[in-house]
Amino acid sequence: MELVEESPYRFRIDRRDPMRVPGVVFASEALLPDVGADRSLEQVAAVATLPGIVDASFAMPDVHLGYGFPIGGVAATDVAAGGVVSPGGVGFDISCGVRLLAADLDLAGLRPRLEAVMDGLGGATPRGAGRGAVWHVTGRSDLDGVLREGSRYAVQRGFGVGRDLERCEDHGALDDADPGAVSPRAVERGATQVGSLGSGNHFLEVQSVAEVYDHDVATTFGLWPGQVCVMIHCGSRGLGHQICTDYVRRMEKAMRRYDIQVPDRQLACAPVESPEGHDYLGAMAAAANYARANRQLLTHVARVVFRRVTGGNLDLVYDVSHNQAKIETHGVDGERRTLCVHRKGATRALPPGHPDLPADLCDVGQPVLIPGSMGTASYVLAGVPGAPAFASTCHGAGRVQSRKQAVRAERGQDPHRQLAARDVAVRGASRRGLAEEMPAAYKDISAVVEATEGAGLCRKVARLMPIGVVKG
Ligand code: 5GP
Ligand code: MN
Ligand code: MN
Repeated sequence: MELVEESPYRFRIDRRDPMRVPGVVFASEALLPDVGADRSLEQVAAVATLPGIVDASFAMPDVHLGYGFPIGGVAATDVAAGGVVSPGGVGFDISCGVRLLAADLDLAGLRPRLEAVMDGLGGATPRGAGRGAVWHVTGRSDLDGVLREGSRYAVQRGFGVGRDLERCEDHGALDDADPGAVSPRAVERGATQVGSLGSGNHFLEVQSVAEVYDHDVATTFGLWPGQVCVMIHCGSRGLGHQICTDYVRRMEKAMRRYDIQVPDRQLACAPVESPEGHDYLGAMAAAANYARANRQLLTHVARVVFRRVTGGNLDLVYDVSHNQAKIETHGVDGERRTLCVHRKGATRALPPGHPDLPADLCDVGQPVLIPGSMGTASYVLAGVPGAPAFASTCHGAGRVQSRKQAVRAERGQDPHRQLAARDVAVRGASRRGLAEEMPAAYKDISAVVEATEGAGLCRKVARLMPIGVVKG
């Protein structure tokens, strides 16, 4: 795939039929070999063929191969112009996302109690692919509150404080959830998993603030050098997965009726303004609320452990999704338009002054939470004015090795010992699970963050280092 360099951090895939818009890839010279290593750039070009797409099909510096859309992909369609919504543009783990909690404790204070904290977190956090969750939900009516009200429902039920909701994207829930559009099979899969990490890439990690790049913004976010933090990464478990599966199937069938042709079946889609589009967005919002409640419940678990072992508290810095489609208003060609913005492995990054920011963050922009790996840094960034790609940025380092490749690369080595050598305590996860997730399986997070900042997508606020991780 030929890339035309527009600037050191921005590359273009020229439009050619049947693309409706060009592709734009944010990267750097150092990242280009990684970005071109799989078929993800062909996916960027394929996304550019979707009906109603505006501006460009975007790829973030952490881009890699995904289902239909690349992971690290952003695409917006014009709703009034027949723009489509595509489940592959959201992904299987609907509203997978990250939240960051800040402790009133520094690293030196935690050290003597680290093993006890990690044992507590490891024991209390439901994880792995199977059963076990903070909440035991028995049926559809019980699950309804979760699907309609997300984190708000969890807080109502005593799993959090009112202030948490101010620091959640959408105040903890999307309003247009439609539990009726969620299949019985999806409900069944979700019911036993409310408040659980899931497997593999999902984690609950104790970190410390290793470096602050902007003291004023960090202070506003509630962060300071040496501070202990907890980062939680999880999503909508089997419920979101089943909804994605259900709607890919339904839209595959419906596409002919709408005379939509796509170069890849995985890009199955339907107009936003169609029964299929409406139903998908309603079900997706329900799954998004499930994911937010999930992170809220795991927050409760972490708070209970921290309070018991350290006597301290954990304040929510922010909670933001990186797998979602949202109806938003943006300027396109000098006009305000209603768009369906797909962010798949991409994080929303609102600029300073945006009306959806909580009042105390309005002057500095949205906190953007970017995990790196369990052995390297993670970052806190902030949204900036005038950013391209509909106020979006990367969502992580992004894989460079498939899970299989990562396991092969780790053969004959002991992942536990390697992490211990980096001073990272690990709980949970099988040896194979850890091998799949070793730092070498991911791109260099610092290079990814440098490219996102260089491309004008966001700016650096703080760097966090892992101390201990509970792996799914
Ligand atoms: P994804 O949502 O694509 O599964 O993962 C998001 C990002 O999380 C990955 O691209 C990777 O950079 C990061 N990541 C995966 N596992 C861990 C972990 O255990 N700890 C941290 N801090 N980051 C991780
Ligand atoms: Mn996920
Ligand atoms: Mn994720």
